[in-house]
Amino acid sequence: MAAAEDYRTQISQVSYRNQAFIAGKFAPAASGKTFDCISPVDGKVLTKVAECDQEDVERAVKAARAVFEKGTWSQMAPLQRKRVMLKWVALIEKHAQELAILETLDVGKPIAQSLPVDVGSSIKCLQWYAETADKIYDELAPARPDSISMITREPIGVVGAVVPWNFPMLMASWKLGPALATGNSVILKPAEQSPLTALRMAELAAEAGLPEGVLNVLPGFGETAGQALGRHMDVDMIAFTGSTEVGKFFLRYAGESNMKHVALETGGKSPNIVFGDVADINHAAASAAAGVFYNSGQVCTAATRIIVQEKIKDQFVELVAKHADKWRPKDPLDPKTAMGSMVDEGQMDRVLSYIDIGRKEGAKVAFGGERARRNTGGFYVEPTIFDDVKNSMRIAQEEIFGPVVATITFKDDEEAVKIANDTIYGLQASLWTRDITRAHKVARSLRAGTVNINATDGGDITAPFGGYKQSGIGRDKSLHALEKYQQIKHTYIQL
Ligand code: NAD
Repeated sequence: MAAAEDYRTQISQVSYRNQAFIAGKFAPAASGKTFDCISPVDGKVLTKVAECDQEDVERAVKAARAVFEKGTWSQMAPLQRKRVMLKWVALIEKHAQELAILETLDVGKPIAQSLPVDVGSSIKCLQWYAETADKIYDELAPARPDSISMITREPIGVVGAVVPWNFPMLMASWKLGPALATGNSVILKPAEQSPLTALRMAELAAEAGLPEGVLNVLPGFGETAGQALGRHMDVDMIAFTGSTEVGKFFLRYAGESNMKHVALETGGKSPNIVFGDVADINHAAASAAAGVFYNSGQVCTAATRIIVQEKIKDQFVELVAKHADKWRPKDPLDPKTAMGSMVDEGQMDRVLSYIDIGRKEGAKVAFGGERARRNTGGFYVEPTIFDDVKNSMRIAQEEIFGPVVATITFKDDEEAVKIANDTIYGLQASLWTRDITRAHKVARSLRAGTVNINATDGGDITAPFGGYKQSGIGRDKSLHALEKYQQIKHTYIQL
């Protein structure tokens, strides 16, 4: 990987796509309005981006619907659709470095992660779904010999994909991969904090031969562009990733408009249960630190609650603190940096205010707890460990979305499960033990879409991902994700 200075030189050569992408072309917002795209690395404006609204949503939906009806993409031979998507993947690979720099500048994540993880995993995701296009078969139901009962899948139509800022390219890819492979038209609304990679990806898709109108990108704000998509009468489905609060808005928008399908990937407050018989306590502590400080804690699955058996608590907190030291925020453009900035000033303030709430609730700061790198003009927070936390405290119940972990103790397995499940969320859980029976029993009792045993972050594109309870509806990743972008049709034939 290049050195920090090389990246700085490359930045001067990066240009920003900052207009809406509708029907295969860049265009300003109909209102002419723009908003500042600010880099949290140093607080400076990178570019002014088109602020899309209702009128732009109308234009994009029209383009998306027209091409869907025409069948240019929706009825293209699956092999051909795959080829276009693979060409797109090859172009993303060719521009991987540029996309990684855009992601780092836009959201402040370390370049050492944006290149292999954000861009790398997006490539794997899109490639994987491209390959499904000509490999999924329809079904025949058991039927009498004088009939044929066919079950076929059809694209759902026009999909609105509304995504967050924590993994802008990857969250978009989790939607675009299965939605496009199954023949839908998509209108992607990136988060207002992170519009840059989405626009560049759409441009590369057009270059790869994706027909006009199949992928449109509308940068803009949630309450305006996002809501207009959610309420549109000609949008067939919303695929959303973001907060639980906004996920519920989309359910309301659907109910108050055309009853469009709504798939939700929302918040989390993941428990990380550490039993006294953990095989390698130092490794578990290193994973606990990585599980909550990676991406400055701005991860829906972040292991934000360490639920540790009483007898090893002090030792474990000490070890997590030792590892936390390696996650102190540094320059995101330096390839040696493990943790960068928060996404913006607002998110930094929110995290600092939660640290304040934790102190006032009576929890003890065992590590960190302050703003960092103030002199850069950017928005950084220290990795922070709270000890003496009760699960009823706000810092244990609410999603902070920052590098802050709460330590809670338990006496026995039953209590560990009770505390772990005592949350409105159910996205992910982890547990550490050397007892295989305990591992399975506890894993079965945890109400979470993903359970990691002796790990905090397992799984790749082949495994489904999503939440129980208020962490979502539906699944991203794996073949299961394809189902939500398709209608199932039954055709009965009397012979
Ligand atoms: P957010 O809910 O504020 O915003 C997400 C998207 O919704 C953005 O594009 C935003 O512009 C849009 N939006 C905001 N208000 C809206 C409104 N009133 N109407 C329509 N659209 C609106 O979330 P965020 O702050 O961008 O991201 C952080 C959240 O995302 C966290 O809660 C995190 O857990 C969640 N997340 C979940 C997953 C998952 O897969 N479960 C993955 C990543 C992030």
